[in-house]
Amino acid sequence: MPEARPSCLVWFRLDLRLTDNPALALAAATGGAVVPVFLWSPEEEGRWAAGAASRWWLHHSLTRLDEALRAKGSRLVVRRGPALDVLRALVRETGAGSVFWNRRYEPATIERDRQVKEALGAEGLRVESANGALLHEPWTVRNRAGKPFQVFTPYWRECLGRSDPDMPVGAPGHLPAPRTWPASEGIEALGLLPGIPWDQGLREAWRPGEAGAVERLARFCAGAVLGYGEERNRPDREGTSRLSPHLHFGEIGPRQVWHAVRRAAGNAGVVEAVWRRWQFLAEVGWREFAHHLLFHFPHTVERPLREPFERFPWREDAASLECWQRGRTGYPLVDAGMRELWATGWMHNRVRMVAGSFLVKNLLISWRAGAEWFWDTLVDADLADNTLGWQWVAGCGADAAPYFRVFNPVAQGRKFDPDGGYVRQWIPELRRVPTEWVHAPWEAPPLVLRSAGVRLGTDYPEPRVSATASRLAALDALASLKAGRIGG
Ligand code: FAD
Repeated sequence: MPEARPSCLVWFRLDLRLTDNPALALAAATGGAVVPVFLWSPEEEGRWAAGAASRWWLHHSLTRLDEALRAKGSRLVVRRGPALDVLRALVRETGAGSVFWNRRYEPATIERDRQVKEALGAEGLRVESANGALLHEPWTVRNRAGKPFQVFTPYWRECLGRSDPDMPVGAPGHLPAPRTWPASEGIEALGLLPGIPWDQGLREAWRPGEAGAVERLARFCAGAVLGYGEERNRPDREGTSRLSPHLHFGEIGPRQVWHAVRRAAGNAGVVEAVWRRWQFLAEVGWREFAHHLLFHFPHTVERPLREPFERFPWREDAASLECWQRGRTGYPLVDAGMRELWATGWMHNRVRMVAGSFLVKNLLISWRAGAEWFWDTLVDADLADNTLGWQWVAGCGADAAPYFRVFNPVAQGRKFDPDGGYVRQWIPELRRVPTEWVHAPWEAPPLVLRSAGVRLGTDYPEPRVSATASRLAALDALASLKAGRIGG
């Protein structure tokens, strides 16, 4: 007997959730059988295919998604290969009449999706994409001249002036299954997990998947959210949401975050005017802005938004780059951050800024080398956010602040990790150094270092460069660039 309505494919990508998933809701509304699909085709993402930490996350997130689908009488069909070929094969095998997905914004993905949409549409299928990842689609926000914004504050003011994002929609209750399921590869067969088991720290720190995301949001709303303004810069405290990998993989959507946080603020009596100025919202806004920039200025993943910076005389210095990557620069706040990243796949935002600034402005190594390392090691590696973050740090991106911002890692450490708790957590060699010197151990009297059990240069490195001298060298190079004395 033929099925009453043709089935449809839902192509899961960076939207690995059932709640508030517009593509899934569209599919469920057709009344036909729903075939959830995940396609592994990293070659279509070019240079920016998922890095090692992201692949680890993806493995676990897909496993959780499959379990959640099975609880609704469905399952995840996993295939490998070029998206268009695999989708065509699945359409043939299932007799599907429609294909739905939620949009992504990386340049290579946009182009690939455009081709898939055009080809399947020409073959008579209903093909629809939806917005599951952003509060505001990048092409809907324009300045008075009708151009995309390049500075955050006016961009976010414009967004806040609009009506509130829609309320999230619930997960479909039941997903009708096809009469026969198309064949699927096992998730393990994708080979996303590391061959050498370096992932223990990640397993201890995170719970990938929709349930983990919901739990993380609930915990934030019940605790840190109201102190966010004061605590968000403290790497020694859990003052931020740590939702970034969940948001990147779409295990939770920004509408859910927005409304949950708003409820928490309402319960605490935070009035409307304060809500709209709230710092946490602005951070969600930075994520929106990053996608706005990536969409309108896709070349920025490789080249600075501010064109003159292409001529900046970056140093090739593999040994210093490796010291930075391994957390052995001799600057404790930088090293603690790089070790936190290596161990857990995440780094506090304040420390990302300080560690990034050190690479670019003190070691004079290109922001691209930093972006690539973060790409491979962050569980929240996101092309929009990472590109914006690195260009902000380098001062070559969309930023109202001047190019000569150079963070002093010692002053930043003393200000934001005043008791040294963060540094001691990640650099055990410095655990017994008194707070006064923990951010600058080379300044400690020899007797103090000896009784803390530290031999500088042996247990913990001497500073790789002088922060003061290298800062002046960077400012000099930047001034030359500005004056047109470098390059073209
Ligand atoms: P919260 O403070 O709780 O903020 C809530 C959410 O807002 C975050 O989960 C994130 O989605 C968004 N957000 C917060 N700050 C920023 C920001 N500055 N820019 C864009 N979005 C923001 N974030 C990523 O998600 N992926 C990246 O690859 C990434 N690379 C970065 C590289 C550099 C050099 C820098 C300086 C920042 C980078 N960030 C990146 C931004 C930021 O550091 C992280 O989003 C944040 O630390 C995540 O922690 P959280 O979830 O606790 O953030």
